[in-house]
Amino acid sequence: MSEVTPFDRVDAVVVGAGPAGLEAAAALASGGVDVLVLERFPDPGDNSVCGEMIPSPRSAREVYGPDPPLDDVYSEFRGEILLNETRYLDVRVGRKAYLIPFESWVIDRSAFLREMAERALEAGARLITRAPVLGVAMREGVEVSFSSRGSTHLLSAGWLLAADGIPSTVARGIGRPPLPRNPADFALAVNVRVEGSMYPEDSVLMDFRPGVAPGGYAWIIPRGGGSANVGLGVRASELDRVDVVEALAGYIRSSPFLKVAKIVGDVRGKLIPVSGLRRDLQIGKVLFVGDSAWTCHPVNGGGIVPAMVSGRLAAEAVVTGSDYSSLLEGRLGRMLRTALAYRRLADRFLFRRGLATLFSLLLTRGLVERAILSKGGLLSRLVELAAAPGPTGRGST
Ligand SMILES: Cc1cc2nc3c(=O)[nH]c(=O)nc-3n(C[C@H](O)[C@H](O)[C@H](O)COP(=O)(O)OP(=O)(O)OC[C@H]3O[C@@H](n4cnc5c(N)ncnc54)[C@H](O)[C@@H]3O)c2cc1C
Repeated sequence: MSEVTPFDRVDAVVVGAGPAGLEAAAALASGGVDVLVLERFPDPGDNSVCGEMIPSPRSAREVYGPDPPLDDVYSEFRGEILLNETRYLDVRVGRKAYLIPFESWVIDRSAFLREMAERALEAGARLITRAPVLGVAMREGVEVSFSSRGSTHLLSAGWLLAADGIPSTVARGIGRPPLPRNPADFALAVNVRVEGSMYPEDSVLMDFRPGVAPGGYAWIIPRGGGSANVGLGVRASELDRVDVVEALAGYIRSSPFLKVAKIVGDVRGKLIPVSGLRRDLQIGKVLFVGDSAWTCHPVNGGGIVPAMVSGRLAAEAVVTGSDYSSLLEGRLGRMLRTALAYRRLADRFLFRRGLATLFSLLLTRGLVERAILSKGGLLSRLVELAAAPGPTGRGST
């Protein structure tokens, strides 16, 4: 190992310059906190693995509720990053197809992250890239070791915000689960960019048909001008029998919308949590945010907006001294639990080999819409009760 050299002490260190970490860093710096972000890649936005779709502000209010900090989060989506606006979700289940009115935005995620990084720097945050965090120890504050320019550095911080996705190096370093324990509670998702898509540009395709993506779905997300993100997510519990890259290649070959499409980038993949919030959102001075707090939507896998919401709330907790777990649980807990209940219902019927086609015949449009958007209401409460695994109904830490 390279020489260990002393480094600064900071009020707060953020591990990971994704949507959660950068949102948190900007809010912390704006609140007067001395904050340093450590990112393992050379540039925020490098290695972006994403379908790049987020709900429009109006749709986001429906899915996440209108409460703060949603407007603050949406104020970040400005400038040249908006590529396309879609109006429908085109959901394929079994032999049925549902066109659900739902406005979405397709964004240039790499450009977005670069802009977010610039805003965080302008607010006073510091960022070190090519700086993978190697280990974390909890002493009086938190001690972080990271590598940069061939040396290993030790940094001590009053707070640590773990925004490093899953598996989380920070969680592992402090003896907590780096990802949900149950392989049904996380998925491997892969995405590739294509040109020449013939899929309608006012819709997003979500394909849950049996055999396409076990325990998940395939998507076509139009970026405009024939460019599209095509991908699929497969539950980790299915990975011993599914090769996701081959499944994606097969999907592209067989799709009538992609007959003349050309693949223009690398297939990239990442694990995402679909478990509902982790229980241990805060351990001492370590706060988990974004994917490492398991904030992704358990049915549709959307994680950008909830990651940013959690980043804001974590910053608020540090600046005001409020309780982060209560803030995040109060803001996203119910919605994620409802979505998890729908996901578990789908696991029991829709994703069961042999039952999928039969179950899909019994599905109503209302149920599909509720499941994908996790709308509340009486039906959702009944689904939650029917699908509850235990006393807390939370993720599997
Ligand atoms: C194929 C795919 C498609 C998706 N499509 C969508 C979509 O269309 N819409 C949507 O809303 N969500 C989508 N998601 C989910 C979304 O990408 C994530 O939920 C979101 O990026 C979470 O943000 P985050 O900041 O928590 O984590 P991440 O975006 O994963 O960022 C974590 C950051 O931490 C860094 N890091 C990790 N470990 C270390 C370390 N040890 N040291 C330093 N840095 C580290 C990483 O390099 C990364 O920059 C998709 C995910 C995948 C995999």
